[in-house]
Amino acid sequence: MKTSIFKNSVVASFLVCTTISSCSESGQVENVQSSEVVVKPTNFIIIFADDLGYGDLSSFGHPTIRTPNLDRMASEGQKWTNFYVGASVCTPSRAALLTGRLPIRNGMTSRINRVLFPDSKNGLPQTEVTLAEQMKKAGYATAAIGKWHLGHKEEYLPTSHGFDYYYGIPYSNDMDNVIPFRSAGGYFSFWKSEERKDIKTFNVPLMRNTEIIERPANQHTITRRYTEETISFIKANKEKPFFVYLAHNLPHVPLFVSEKFEGTSPRGIYGDVVEEIDFYIGKILDALDENDLTKNTLVVFTSDNGPWLIMNQEGGSAGLLRNGKGSTWEGGMREPTIFWAPGSIKPGIVTDLGSTMDLFTTFSNLIGAPVPDDREMDGVDLGPTLFEGKPSPRNNMFYYRGDWLYAVRVGNYKAHFRTQEPYGPDVVEHETPLLYDLNIDPSEQYDLAHEHPEIIEQIREVVEAHNEKMVKGPDMLKDREGNSSQ
Ligand code: MG
Repeated sequence: MKTSIFKNSVVASFLVCTTISSCSESGQVENVQSSEVVVKPTNFIIIFADDLGYGDLSSFGHPTIRTPNLDRMASEGQKWTNFYVGASVCTPSRAALLTGRLPIRNGMTSRINRVLFPDSKNGLPQTEVTLAEQMKKAGYATAAIGKWHLGHKEEYLPTSHGFDYYYGIPYSNDMDNVIPFRSAGGYFSFWKSEERKDIKTFNVPLMRNTEIIERPANQHTITRRYTEETISFIKANKEKPFFVYLAHNLPHVPLFVSEKFEGTSPRGIYGDVVEEIDFYIGKILDALDENDLTKNTLVVFTSDNGPWLIMNQEGGSAGLLRNGKGSTWEGGMREPTIFWAPGSIKPGIVTDLGSTMDLFTTFSNLIGAPVPDDREMDGVDLGPTLFEGKPSPRNNMFYYRGDWLYAVRVGNYKAHFRTQEPYGPDVVEHETPLLYDLNIDPSEQYDLAHEHPEIIEQIREVVEAHNEKMVKGPDMLKDREGNSSQ
């Protein structure tokens, strides 16, 4: 029997209704609280972890990392198990979240899987519209707290992209002094040295708006300080609508933790770091409660890309997903994601597809800011799923690495047209793509290409339609002094 992968199959609806609420026989979700008046959230907080894997929260199956606050958010809100980022490394993933577009469209990628370095001259182009700029149109107070990594020259910093306020390390927490190790070819062996445990080894700056206020940033206290800044901003703006983009630098290596958490997790220092992040997320929830903001604030938690597996015990885990950061296997781009807004989000586990790129459209619709219509957008509105328990309108996911499309998911099925190890030089082109049913085989172990050639044909049609509308942006990462590197 031939199989179709196109929306909206009863299977897709059924998956939602078994997990969110009750269903009618036709597979549609019934709104069991339809008589209740749902107050949609007016404040938004996005908490973005760095290099945290799909399997690194207790609510996503980690056996020894304890994340009670995130677990509470998952049980009171929606836990999304098929939620994707726009790229498997830091810079393009952040660009995707903030613009609602695949990074290839705005030049925040390149033929190799590059990210911005401290000697990069460029950043997110001004022609892009960010989620913060959308919020500004609707009168929001906006803050970016934490890692930026979309250009650290003044014209690319958060304050030039719609944020009223910025406090954070403008790129990854391993950059600056690590560059010599990298160009000498010894970057990864460096991570076995004791030097990695000293903040002075990493000369990263801490900025307030456009000024450097501390260098090297004391990374032992950075998670706490990002939290304090977030809470201060919330309190100062509680009378008006606010948007906070809180992008933790951790648990990206180097791993630093405060004294209070040092040596406390059975998972070792990586667990200490994740548990500290969780603890301070609890403090943000407490602050919302104390300021009577819980009922109208939506908090989203996710991660920018999968675990950095090459860091061994100091990298995270993608759980049952294959591979990690830098790859287009599921472990690189599927992230543990939670939406929390008590009183408005229908609690449950959502197995439908979603993406960080959807936050732009979803939030824009909630605040009444028109989504730009002069460019291709890659997001959909997840509001009906969040607030009414309806199926997600997203049916596809495109997995790019640099400028190249490596894989495509349509419905349950994912076809890999090319594969490559995160740091392997060899690209393997698959004339007959590898094909996996991700509902049955989330670990991508059992290739179904020869059983379902018709599905591959249907996915090829999706790719063709996608390519027809693809306009690539300029390469904003090419203009780097020194050697280009991963
Ligand atoms: Mg990252």
